[in-house]
Amino acid sequence: MATNITLTMIKPDAVRAGNIGNILKDIEAGGFRIKAMRYYHMSKTVAGRFYEVHAERPFYGELVEFMSSGPIVAAVLEKENAVADFRTLIGATNPKEAAPGTIRAKYATSIGENAVHGSDSDENAALEASFHFASRDMI
Ligand code: GDP
Repeated sequence: MATNITLTMIKPDAVRAGNIGNILKDIEAGGFRIKAMRYYHMSKTVAGRFYEVHAERPFYGELVEFMSSGPIVAAVLEKENAVADFRTLIGATNPKEAAPGTIRAKYATSIGENAVHGSDSDENAALEASFHFASRDMI
């Protein structure tokens, strides 16, 4: 399973801007199948746990604050080569460096408020999927 899934979150900036539908449309047009999806507001504690791997980075506090500032859409996506293909679809972390047509180029406003999350490895995809979803929720 791990080689075919990735975990995404539509971040609070994109939800506030009314881009849930646009982003899901790009995701489906990119050939990804939604295996699980959940709309909810992460508490600071939950967002802090999700980003624990970044705890030592200078922007950790800002990131946790931002990710708990409003609701998100978390989803498990399935496709062959899901992790790498999804990172191609979303573009670089900094929207100024994101290739034209990518989700971050279209909908992100800054390196911090960059519209979407995408797992960076198969191992993290599996961990992140199980962070948000029980196995029974992944269809
Ligand atoms: P990603 O894998 O492309 O999401 O990038 P990283 O793993 O490097 O960073 C995780 C998340 O932290 C990014 O998606 C941004 O939301 C945030 N982030 C990264 N760099 C910065 C920064 O310099 N400042 C702020 N405020 N947030 C950042």
